[in-house]
Amino acid sequence: MVKKYLLPENGQFYKANLHSHSTMSDGKMTPEQMKEEYQKRGYSVIAYTDHNVMVPHPELTDENFVALTGTEYDFDNETEENPYHLIPVCHICMIALDPDNVVQPCFTPTKYYDKVKAFNDPRYQVTYDESQPFYERSYTPECINDVIKKAREQGFFVTYNHPTWSLEGFSIYGKYEGMNAMEICNYGCVTEGYDEYNPWEYDELLRQGKQLYCIATDDNHNHYPIDGPRCDSFGGFTMIKADKLEYKAITDALVKGNFYASQGPEIYSLYVEDNKIHIKSSDAARIVVTTGLRHSYCFYPLEGDTINEAAFELRPDDIYVRITVFDKTGKPADTNAYFVEDLLGE
Ligand SMILES: [Zn+2]
Ligand SMILES: [Zn+2]
Repeated sequence: MVKKYLLPENGQFYKANLHSHSTMSDGKMTPEQMKEEYQKRGYSVIAYTDHNVMVPHPELTDENFVALTGTEYDFDNETEENPYHLIPVCHICMIALDPDNVVQPCFTPTKYYDKVKAFNDPRYQVTYDESQPFYERSYTPECINDVIKKAREQGFFVTYNHPTWSLEGFSIYGKYEGMNAMEICNYGCVTEGYDEYNPWEYDELLRQGKQLYCIATDDNHNHYPIDGPRCDSFGGFTMIKADKLEYKAITDALVKGNFYASQGPEIYSLYVEDNKIHIKSSDAARIVVTTGLRHSYCFYPLEGDTINEAAFELRPDDIYVRITVFDKTGKPADTNAYFVEDLLGE
């Protein structure tokens, strides 16, 4: 059997923050400042996903950096009887697969005018299809699924964000269809006190047969000092493996799932050979295999030591496998889920 690489054999890992807010909406850093601070810490990619407004930043892309065009949409049915802090809401991000794709799907300029500083600033381009009626968003699975579908059709990578902060349980998010990925970690929410590491939520969707990837993001707003304890940057990142650091190479890798999510540890390689999965990583205190069934297992080093690899047999009766590498401080790195029937017997 030939080796099947689950993370590509060739290419390079690029560190990415796929969810961020700048001064274009309610963030404190300008897009330029964000680029500078993230680059200092080894990042090569930022998706600029300001609330409800999609502002491309092609001027920030160069040979060492890719600025992905994106936006975050919110859905809520807030009323006087149902104040905002009590109700579940839904947030999704959409990231344009092509740098030329600057037309915002399902847009309602009037409704979001006040939140959208960029809208009246001629320096920034906000584009929507003026021939379309204004899109009225509402907090229903039908509307949310319609926006996801339209965004996918219009060439966007769609992510489902921070279920814990949103107060959404499985009975709600289990109805959402067609997103490319969900946030297994949203670090900004973690810094605000929410338990926004979501492996369980990810498993619930996978067990239902939904094939989606997982990403870790910052969702940074930077209302606190960048080197202080409340800083909401640099805690959740996605390592994207691509041939080169160019816009389309990065988004192709996103669509293919050539990445993993991390809050610290690194994953160097991941492949299947003879129905066995092999993983190599930075120093791990344990490596956990999750299968979607009561079949999980764990690799440990000898006491006080660390391990850097694990290999395990695929079992045909499992639904999927995904692997989590924990470092000594308890920080995880999560692979995407791989469905067993796609991996066996090739
Ligand atoms: Zn959000
Ligand atoms: Zn956000």
